[in-house]
Amino acid sequence: MIRLENDDPEVWQAIQKETERQQNTIDLIASENICSPAVQEAQGSSMTNKYAEGYAGRRWYAGCGYVDTVENLAVERAKKIFGAEHANVQPNAGSQANMAVCFSVLKPGDRILGMDLSHGGHLTHGFKKNFSGMMYDITHYGVKKETGYIDYDEVHAIALKTKPHMIIAGASAYPRILDFPRFRKIADEVGAYLMADIAHIAGLVAGGVHPSPVPYADFVTTTTHKTLRGPRGGMILCKQKYAKQIDSMVFPGIQGGPFMHIIAAKAVAFKEAMTEEFKQCQRQTVQNAKAMAQEFVKRGYSIVSGGTDNHLFLIDLRNKNITGKEAQMLLETTDIILNRNTIPFDEKGASANEPNGIRIGTPTVTSRGMKEAAVIRIADCIDKALSQPNDSQTKEAVRKAVRELCAAHPLYEIEACQKAK
Ligand SMILES: *Cc1c(COP(=O)(O)O)cnc(C)c1O
Repeated sequence: MIRLENDDPEVWQAIQKETERQQNTIDLIASENICSPAVQEAQGSSMTNKYAEGYAGRRWYAGCGYVDTVENLAVERAKKIFGAEHANVQPNAGSQANMAVCFSVLKPGDRILGMDLSHGGHLTHGFKKNFSGMMYDITHYGVKKETGYIDYDEVHAIALKTKPHMIIAGASAYPRILDFPRFRKIADEVGAYLMADIAHIAGLVAGGVHPSPVPYADFVTTTTHKTLRGPRGGMILCKQKYAKQIDSMVFPGIQGGPFMHIIAAKAVAFKEAMTEEFKQCQRQTVQNAKAMAQEFVKRGYSIVSGGTDNHLFLIDLRNKNITGKEAQMLLETTDIILNRNTIPFDEKGASANEPNGIRIGTPTVTSRGMKEAAVIRIADCIDKALSQPNDSQTKEAVRKAVRELCAAHPLYEIEACQKAK
């Protein structure tokens, strides 16, 4: 068998380096995670070779028996985890899941009410250079200036005024619990569909640490690679009455042959998500985020909304002498990887590219087995680096602490967890 190392050393080398990079850096990007070797094995399998346009039992091509098996497993497991009536596991990513839902029940020009990008919303919720912003008439809600919490009275008022066809509940940078019953009530009052986009929090929902939107939303979309800890991909959950519409919009509406290797990996991740270890890991993810946010508050940092209920929080750097981008670049030199982020009401932020915030998430470090003591040490590292940006001794001390933390918490701690069981 031809091995990558011999066949294509350039790609092989880059992959080795990437694995090393992941092992030797602290990843605080809230949308990332470490999926298990079992998930990766399924992704790297022969199922990548198979065309399977259609759905299990009704494919266009011959030879689909085994890919049908894995798609059925993925669908049944997804329905079980989330208590959903119907699941479509074919969307290639979260964006395609959202596109399929929008295309299935909206016409071009219809009105969508979604969260403002600069307050934590996602590109697919109405950004003007995204399909959502190009095709639909978008209005936005945001958070309250004084509290940093979603202003549900504002959502209500805008909905009454603009009569949206669809309301989107969900975010990429919102640290608080989403009130799905409240969104449902508002949607009902104006006759709008409710789509809950749980791309970020799906793992928390599966682990029982964030309320589920499934009883309330007409459509629930998600990625499978964020807190849910599966392969890079998307998924749609919906009521049975929308099943046909959704399935035919995913294929043949917006996609061709489904990625069967990814669907196999989704099935594996969903099985993992039903374990007690997974649930414990989700609880710890939230505890870690809370502990870290608290530590930053103690050290005089301003945290949007004052803390967090989930896996992420936002640091408002306006009272510090550094921008989000500078902080991101500085921390990368100490092997701490995170992203700059807009913060709500950032008048000083010149553009989306130069925001005054950073976003910190705990899924990856928690999957590596870190608990409160370790993440508080990370907070200490970040504080030191940001406070002494030009001091090489401080930087070296931070790098050393990062090296120690990484060595003590190997990437595939999750495998160890599962074996320990
Ligand atoms: C990440 C994310 C998506 C889309 O994910 P991709 O897989 O990158 O397309 C959609 N919605 C929200 C809220 C997200 O955070």
